[in-house]
Amino acid sequence: MRAYNFCAGPAALPTAVLEKAQQEMLDWQGKGLSIMEMSHRSNDYVAVAEKAEADLRTLMNIPENYKVLFLQGGASLQFSAIPLNLLGKNNKADYIHTGIWSEKALKEAKRYGDINIVEAGTLIDGKHAITEQSTWNLSDNAAYVHYADNETIGGLQFAAVPEVNAPLVCDFSSSILSAPLDVSKFGLIYAGAQKNIGPAGLTIVIIRDDLLDQAKPEIPSILKYGDQAKNGSMVNTPATYAWYLSGLVFEWLLEQGGVDAIYKINQDKAKLLYGYIDSSDFYNNPIAIANRSMMNVPFTLADEALEKTFLKEAEQNHLLNLAGHRSVGGMRASIYNAVPLEGVQALVNFMDDFAKRHG
Ligand SMILES: *Cc1c(COP(=O)(O)O)cnc(C)c1O
Repeated sequence: MRAYNFCAGPAALPTAVLEKAQQEMLDWQGKGLSIMEMSHRSNDYVAVAEKAEADLRTLMNIPENYKVLFLQGGASLQFSAIPLNLLGKNNKADYIHTGIWSEKALKEAKRYGDINIVEAGTLIDGKHAITEQSTWNLSDNAAYVHYADNETIGGLQFAAVPEVNAPLVCDFSSSILSAPLDVSKFGLIYAGAQKNIGPAGLTIVIIRDDLLDQAKPEIPSILKYGDQAKNGSMVNTPATYAWYLSGLVFEWLLEQGGVDAIYKINQDKAKLLYGYIDSSDFYNNPIAIANRSMMNVPFTLADEALEKTFLKEAEQNHLLNLAGHRSVGGMRASIYNAVPLEGVQALVNFMDDFAKRHG
């Protein structure tokens, strides 16, 4: 049987998508070979790649003046690619710091330019929160403003898109496609695929046309957004299988009714899990309500000594990968698009039973 997988990444994929991939594995659409064995320049593969892009454009309602790139190197390579492409002549950018991922991004950026760090994390009544935008020390001549929509490790998410004058650049690795988004508010959106899209190895970059050709001339062609855009993300061999499989996920999402429909389910899932945690004296979530992540739900047990037992029993109940990130400990349930409401219900039932037996 397939278990419910709460892994933060690489994460759960829809069973229907894996079944389709399995069915096509040896003989893709009667062509006598696997899609993995196909040239990325073949008409068949290019059609698959273009269909994936078209479906993502539909799902996210991406305006025509944006390019969609299917790159490699993970979100982490974008931590460098973004400053190398976008810092431009004034070489200044604002980075909003809310947790571990936004910190990794700003540390890379500091190697290339004059980075103004906006500390936006705070504690409200002992709970982690993001400060009001009116308190941020944004600069007036930044080439761009960077933030991470959802801090996957902390479980801290922006309640709204910040309003800034410079182009807005956002790491959506763990929240892309989870809720409706107005792409036109951004200069650049990026996301590693392995959380809410597809397998590891693929990174999506959605970039406004006017930002394409500002790269420092000496950087590798593979890292230049303009070069990748001109070459259909095929400056070199792309991650063909991950791209194909992500395309199947986009088709699956469209069949579910698109982002609006999955958003409703995601809201129900989050409400169920946070609601249960809040109703319990045994479990605690450390995030202020307004900034709770819809995708990654960290929680602690009343007694830390029970963590190992909790994880072991959860696994016996086919509830996998609930340990928190190694840097913070505790528990974390990642409830991405591919985790169904029934999975969250099974988790809540287990948590309740565990608390009754051990509380
Ligand atoms: C997972 C994650 C990353 C790192 O992604 P890689 O693809 O492993 O480089 C960056 N940012 C956020 C918000 C993440 O969740």
